[in-house]
Amino acid sequence: MTDLDQPLARPAARRWVPRRVVATPPAYDHPHGRRIMALVEAQGIEVERLRSARLTGVRGESDRETYARAKSTMAIVVSPPSRRRLQPIAPSADWRFDLAEGCPAHCQYCYLAGSLSGPPVTRVYADLDEILGGLAEYAGRGTVTSRRPARREEGTTFEASCYTDPLALEHLTGSWRRAVEHFGGWDAPVQLRWTTKFDDVGTFVGLTHHRRTRVRFSVNCLPVTIRFEGGTSRLADRLAALRRLALDGYPVGLTIAPIMPVDDWRTSYGALLEAVAAAVHGVPDLDLTAELITHRFTPGSKEVLLGWYPRTRLEMAEDARTRKHGKFGAVKYVYPAPVMAELRGWFEAGIAERLPGCRILYWT
Ligand code: SF4
Repeated sequence: MTDLDQPLARPAARRWVPRRVVATPPAYDHPHGRRIMALVEAQGIEVERLRSARLTGVRGESDRETYARAKSTMAIVVSPPSRRRLQPIAPSADWRFDLAEGCPAHCQYCYLAGSLSGPPVTRVYADLDEILGGLAEYAGRGTVTSRRPARREEGTTFEASCYTDPLALEHLTGSWRRAVEHFGGWDAPVQLRWTTKFDDVGTFVGLTHHRRTRVRFSVNCLPVTIRFEGGTSRLADRLAALRRLALDGYPVGLTIAPIMPVDDWRTSYGALLEAVAAAVHGVPDLDLTAELITHRFTPGSKEVLLGWYPRTRLEMAEDARTRKHGKFGAVKYVYPAPVMAELRGWFEAGIAERLPGCRILYWT
């Protein structure tokens, strides 16, 4: 047992077993849809074949019941056409593409709350081959990382975890494994990127990835992880998984998010950085990055999260925050500038000291 498992140990995350899996008729027409159905059924889970593409039976009698039903449902569907036109995803990557939307975990700050509408059903995409085949036209056309001299050597970057957590679903879909192999066989300056709070990396070890996939582990200090990240893997297990992939030659990364100035945050985040240093110790040719994201919320995400987690102790007090306008005028609440400056200065110095080979990709 490591220090990270104490003092508030919790059991290792178990692989998600959805209570209900449905498949829409268009999904059967895609080889990957049929692969997912076979994979799910091989795990003893029945797949309900819907008569139409409309998913019913998710709404319960209360918001709580709807949330519980949706969170335990997986739908095998074809991606909406809008998802096939890729969008830049600053500051992470040149382009984002989606292999699924939704996640079975229960993080009380989940950023999906402000991004997705309707009950939080997990939808996995059957048209994977078409989605991967459509990426080639975006190569060399990066608008985010490719334009920044500091990140140009990453090539054209494609982010595949904007609306989901890949390792929460991989055992039911096989989708991200195929994506890694796709990029491994794509002999061009391109990079697949995804981030996860899970540790189920066994099926990725030994793939022909050619270092064209960067897997980042979303990590936080123990008080945040234990209090707010229900249903995810333990921090120690995520770091062990990071080591496993780094030893297998993958570029790896940390998504330290959401950073919060909790009580005694310097000590808690210091322990996190030390645990990461121990996890990567002795890894040959280590390629490690860090992405630093502070906590923020919008009026919409706060309302949804308080509906999902009414007793949360997550701080979302508008009067303790600075109001900012994002893209298209949307309002978001971030920490005030002096708090941001203090956090940023501490993280930049802390990473330079404890993880000297680690490149910070951005702070936000
Ligand atoms: S693991 Fe990520 S996507 Fe899943 S509930 Fe937590 S924050 Fe949301």
